[in-house]
Amino acid sequence: MKKKKVAVVGAGIVGASAAYLLSKESNIDLTIYDEGTGQGTSAAAGIISPWLSKRRNKEWYNMVKAGAAFYPGFLAEVMGSEPVPSSVYKRVGTLLFKQKDKQLEELLEIGLKRREDAPEIGELAILPPQKIKEMIPIYTKNKSALYASGGARVDGEKLVELLLSKAVRNGATLKRERITVERDGETYAIVSEDKTDTMDAVILAVAAWLPELLEPLGYDVDIRPQKGQLVEVNFDGYATEDWPVVMPEGEKDITPFENGTVVIGATHENEKGFDLKIEKSALTSMIKEASETFSHYFSTSSITSYRSGTRAYTSDFSPFMGEVPELPNVFAASGLGSTGLTAGPLVGKCLAELVLNKETPLPLEDYPIGQYVKKQD
Ligand SMILES: Cc1cc2nc3c(=O)[nH]c(=O)nc-3n(C[C@H](O)[C@H](O)[C@H](O)COP(=O)(O)OP(=O)(O)OC[C@H]3O[C@@H](n4cnc5c(N)ncnc54)[C@H](O)[C@@H]3O)c2cc1C
Repeated sequence: MKKKKVAVVGAGIVGASAAYLLSKESNIDLTIYDEGTGQGTSAAAGIISPWLSKRRNKEWYNMVKAGAAFYPGFLAEVMGSEPVPSSVYKRVGTLLFKQKDKQLEELLEIGLKRREDAPEIGELAILPPQKIKEMIPIYTKNKSALYASGGARVDGEKLVELLLSKAVRNGATLKRERITVERDGETYAIVSEDKTDTMDAVILAVAAWLPELLEPLGYDVDIRPQKGQLVEVNFDGYATEDWPVVMPEGEKDITPFENGTVVIGATHENEKGFDLKIEKSALTSMIKEASETFSHYFSTSSITSYRSGTRAYTSDFSPFMGEVPELPNVFAASGLGSTGLTAGPLVGKCLAELVLNKETPLPLEDYPIGQYVKKQD
């Protein structure tokens, strides 16, 4: 039987997850295209802890809640008989801080209620400063925090590398290049500088770059880029591997990884377009904030690296996915904003199921692509 030729364009967390899943299908001939500049996934902080947000968007919450719950089983499937490397993903718990202790009580109430249909939140407790110091010895403040044991951290870049290496091992072709898409009757042409590939189905997992790909095909796309910068510091000699993720009030979270590495950030800059320039003032102010809210051990002298990337937002901040209107067998997802690493593998699974003509694990009607991707008259 002739194999179905499928292109996955964009290999951030969404595209890499979809590609990995499709690479296991024997009747699919898969090619992955990814250029990589500005990728949200490799820039991300890596926090998987969506349950205690005050955002009132039910569909978004259902997506990120299901996305967080999807991770352990998905990774177990990816790894087969081997353990999930803790450098890629680990459930280390989350510590949430609030200005006042009363707000922590309120948050605990919310958490207990949400846990009824999201048991993956795990244990919930308000921890006094002493307990926090036992978990994270560099903590130098005197505030309590709400602890949720189900919170996790993921290294987006490493996870994508893992998924792509498995996909390639399963027979997929990976092309590190920028492409455009053209319609050619019933099929699609994927056009790069020196070659054109013909495809039966296409997944567009290109986040903030979706307008660039669909506008030449006559579409208006409600997606805008948002710049995010973050900074990495090193606490040499500290066993940071099991430190929980710290979410102080505000947007500068603290995400510990292995071997003393701690990531601080990120910024949310709406007016910078696709600019990726690192601004020293942003780095300094993130370090200053972490020092004020969490530990005076944070200082600019401990900076080891920094990075910036682009998030994709719709005008009402809602994510979408599905078949592009009037483009049969072209499927897209975008608008995952600042929680796309959390939702990404599950959204990738939905796109893979669409290619396979199977039911998606999330209801598509809750994420209507037609509202954000419109054919021009
Ligand atoms: C600084 C920062 C911190 C973040 N922190 C978190 C966090 O802690 N938790 C969380 O859940 N989320 C976080 N996010 C959000 C999350 O990273 C994104 O929502 C998610 O990674 C988006 O994944 P994606 O696969 O849709 O797109 P991306 O990861 O952006 O990947 C899109 C890919 O498509 C490629 N591409 C685009 N156009 C083309 C083309 N024409 N040809 C070939 N390739 C193309 C790009 O080069 C890119 O590699 C953060 C984002 C940023 C920027």
